[in-house]
Amino acid sequence: MNPATELTESLIAPCGMNCALCMAYQREKKSCPGCNVNSETKSKSCASCRIKNCEELKATHSNFCFSCSKFPCLRLRQLDKRYVTKYGMSMLVNLGRIRDEGMTELIRSETEKWVCRHCGTFLSVHKEFCLRCGNSNSYVPPI
Ligand code: SF4
Ligand code: SF4
Ligand SMILES: [Zn+2]
Repeated sequence: MNPATELTESLIAPCGMNCALCMAYQREKKSCPGCNVNSETKSKSCASCRIKNCEELKATHSNFCFSCSKFPCLRLRQLDKRYVTKYGMSMLVNLGRIRDEGMTELIRSETEKWVCRHCGTFLSVHKEFCLRCGNSNSYVPPI
């Protein structure tokens, strides 16, 4: 798939993950097309994701966890804690932004935060350097 230059709504997963920032999306071989696409190349862990396949999620009108009566459930909070701690991004912040400010604002803020200042492609949360140009982006604005 390679690093994206443009973020689209379809790359935002129901849990709030921005799949454009995922190593599995950005890698060249057997790249994952993102949570919202069903494909054989999707990683096993994401194909069987308990959030994506959650029965409560299927009952929501938005297909985002913020519409669920159990939001934020323990599973989502644990995922969020891991990503905040390890990768400096928060699914819960993303979901709150979509709910309160709209998808357009999330896409704007994600682009501002995660686009490589050197080559203009999206960085990966899983890597400290840009996979396209190899430069590090030392300044990452707060979540
Ligand atoms: S592996 Fe999971 S988080 Fe990464 S792009 Fe695929 S669905 Fe999204
Ligand atoms: S917040 Fe609701 S829809 Fe999302 S994983 Fe938890 S129970 Fe499922
Ligand atoms: Zn770059």
